[in-house]
Amino acid sequence: MSPPLNQIQTSPTLPAAADVVVIGGGIIGVFAAYYLARRGVSVALVEKGRIGAEQSSRNWGWCRQQNRDARELPMASKSLDLWERFAIESGEDTGFHRCGLLYLSNDDAELARWASWGEFAKTAGVTTYMLDSRQAAERGKATGRPWKGGVFSPSDGTADPAKAAPAVATALMKLGGSVIQHCAARGIELEGGRVCGVVTEAGVIKTRTVVLAGGAWASAFCRQLGVRFPQASIRQSILSVSPVEHRLPDALFTAGVSVTRRNDGRYALAISGRARVDVTPQFLRFAPQFMPMFAKRWRSLLPGGLEGVRGGHETLQRWRLDAPTPMERVRILDPKPDRATVTETHRRAVELLPELRKANITHAWAGFVDSTPDGVPGIGELPGVPGLVLAAGFSGHGFGIAPGAGHLIADLASGAQPIVDPIPYRPGRFANSSWGKVADF
Ligand SMILES: Cc1cc2nc3c(=O)[nH]c(=O)nc-3n(C[C@H](O)[C@H](O)[C@H](O)COP(=O)(O)OP(=O)(O)OC[C@H]3O[C@@H](n4cnc5c(N)ncnc54)[C@H](O)[C@@H]3O)c2cc1C
Repeated sequence: MSPPLNQIQTSPTLPAAADVVVIGGGIIGVFAAYYLARRGVSVALVEKGRIGAEQSSRNWGWCRQQNRDARELPMASKSLDLWERFAIESGEDTGFHRCGLLYLSNDDAELARWASWGEFAKTAGVTTYMLDSRQAAERGKATGRPWKGGVFSPSDGTADPAKAAPAVATALMKLGGSVIQHCAARGIELEGGRVCGVVTEAGVIKTRTVVLAGGAWASAFCRQLGVRFPQASIRQSILSVSPVEHRLPDALFTAGVSVTRRNDGRYALAISGRARVDVTPQFLRFAPQFMPMFAKRWRSLLPGGLEGVRGGHETLQRWRLDAPTPMERVRILDPKPDRATVTETHRRAVELLPELRKANITHAWAGFVDSTPDGVPGIGELPGVPGLVLAAGFSGHGFGIAPGAGHLIADLASGAQPIVDPIPYRPGRFANSSWGKVADF
């Protein structure tokens, strides 16, 4: 079952030309296009299915600095401000609010890791508060049980995945940007080795700059151009329950289960990191590069099934530009949720927060998290394809950092001063066999 998602009306007409074409209408593509349009750049965004219908409506909605990898922390901090500014500038509602994130634990090692991250975060100007057992019990009183400690990060928050991408696409259209849904980009046209157009199922858009924000489809798309982008999808399952009478924490993490309040009062429930790995042709191709990540996360990764092959996003096929492609066969990746995980998640949530016994399960769904070998996205012009800016591989953290990432992508695509240092994200690093430290979830 798909999660709730606002639907928007978009233009049926493809422009003949645009300064920049953005491929993919997830949260990354819409924010990149929005920041380009704000600078007066003419921008066309093509989305093969519906705005926000893949990962960007399937996530928890956390917008966090807490426990971020050092490489992503500056972008995470900028993003929190940009979420707020977006609402003021555009008048559109993404559901973002700084509700603060609450982490509770009874594990000394976990608490020590959070404390040490807190020390590092201070050096980056981010304040979070370690909670002793009394404070943890107070903040976590809805659980009705003792805790050894925890963390509260008051400046972090959540946005609503059902609203966010459609709201940003609406703001983009108000600025004069074109958004075309149900329109797959099949490939890129080159002239003298440089981008000169995008071939879509509805015709060609002439352009000299393309942003590829295709989420889990990005690697297969790059392959058509002979570019190697190591990417692997893992399938995470999540469910939502109806509102309850007594208010629970807005955003609570525990190792067993995490709970997030949505704008309409429902709660999203999930087990952090738990996922299935579906074996696909692309997975086998890149498996050696992903071994360090899988080794680090082996406890929470389970063997998958055929959902990945059914999706078609990890094909090794080379497709023609004058015939329907796998992107037109599967408009929206809507993998089956893992039944055992859904049942276990619900059981743990009800045990953690007894109030949830009064709630009914309203939806259960899954999403493919598109990951890179080091868990940090690839953002920047692809080596060897001038004019093509990659923005994919957000590795399970892309929703919260989308405004900052979108701003950076717009900076790179328009030659402006980058909002954050782009070096940690450069796609050129994937040419090496080792990418250094694997980021934590
Ligand atoms: C269960 C789950 C929980 C998560 N929780 C969080 C969280 O709490 N916080 C957080 O920050 N992140 C979270 N994430 C990760 C986050 O959702 C993603 O990193 C983010 O949404 C990625 O956005 P995107 O725009 O890159 O990709 P997507 O949202 O997947 O969008 C890509 C879009 O490109 C389109 N597309 C692809 N190829 C083409 C083409 N050739 N032509 C036209 N269109 C194309 C697709 O149809 C799709 O709509 C979670 C993810 C999951 C699955």
